[in-house]
Amino acid sequence: MSIKVVIAEPHGYCGNDNFGVQRAVRLAQKTARKQPGKTYLLGEIVHNQHVVSRLEKKYGLKTVQRIKDIPKGSMVIIRAHGVTPSVYQQAEKKGLNIIDATCPLVVQVHKEVKRLAAEGRQILYIASSKNHDEAVGVVGEAPKAVILTTLDELDKIKLKNPQKTIVLTQTTLSVLETQKKLNRFKAKYPEVEIKPHICLATSQRQKSAIELAKRIGFVIIVGHPTSSNSNRLKEVAQTAGAKTYIVDTDKELRPEWFKGIFEVAVSSGASTPEWLLKKVIKKIKNF
Ligand code: SF4
Repeated sequence: MSIKVVIAEPHGYCGNDNFGVQRAVRLAQKTARKQPGKTYLLGEIVHNQHVVSRLEKKYGLKTVQRIKDIPKGSMVIIRAHGVTPSVYQQAEKKGLNIIDATCPLVVQVHKEVKRLAAEGRQILYIASSKNHDEAVGVVGEAPKAVILTTLDELDKIKLKNPQKTIVLTQTTLSVLETQKKLNRFKAKYPEVEIKPHICLATSQRQKSAIELAKRIGFVIIVGHPTSSNSNRLKEVAQTAGAKTYIVDTDKELRPEWFKGIFEVAVSSGASTPEWLLKKVIKKIKNF
């Protein structure tokens, strides 16, 4: 009898033609079709190396890490996590055509940081890690006005001007963990304004992973190691009491994990493509 697999909803890329990973990947494909050989990805467009490799192999996109490595007159795709304003300036100065695949939900945070900084507010920005691409881009809007921190370090933060401070967050943090830490922070600094920006795609996936973790007790997360939202899915499923593993591809699944297991929940990150998820499910069913 094959193992029963319950797939967490939603799955596949987050968003649609207007936002999210789906929009970013489609923009890259469309641009590469129109400008073959002249389209460049500046860093990983989304945090999944398999998606990037497919874009390179199938559509001829080239990935570079610096604007200076892109020939003048080329197309440059800005990653879904966004970049600092200085990157746009460099690209414009070099005469590149910018295709902005930054998720509009991340753009909202950029705009908010810029506006708040102009109003003289102090921004406390909570990231999954201080060097996450989304955090680097957001902080770059107003480096002097932003204190960059992580959930782990939040308790250690000492504010000089709590009445002037507003707390913003990265879009892919753990909802429950963030709520818990922010409640504690608010108790310490009641004057602080708190405005988390965890997106719906992130919170829906976490909610579904928690429900399945509680019901089934065994969860496989499909996501790339660099994907913040995939790592959060693993954490929330574990916290909900399930035995949880995260795999990048079906090749990382170990037969011994499934000994004596009849039912498995499979959840996936916002940048995990359907084809990778399907391979994982197929392999689990064959154990
Ligand atoms: S996870 Fe949320 S913020 Fe990030 S790309 Fe998807 S919809 Fe946008």
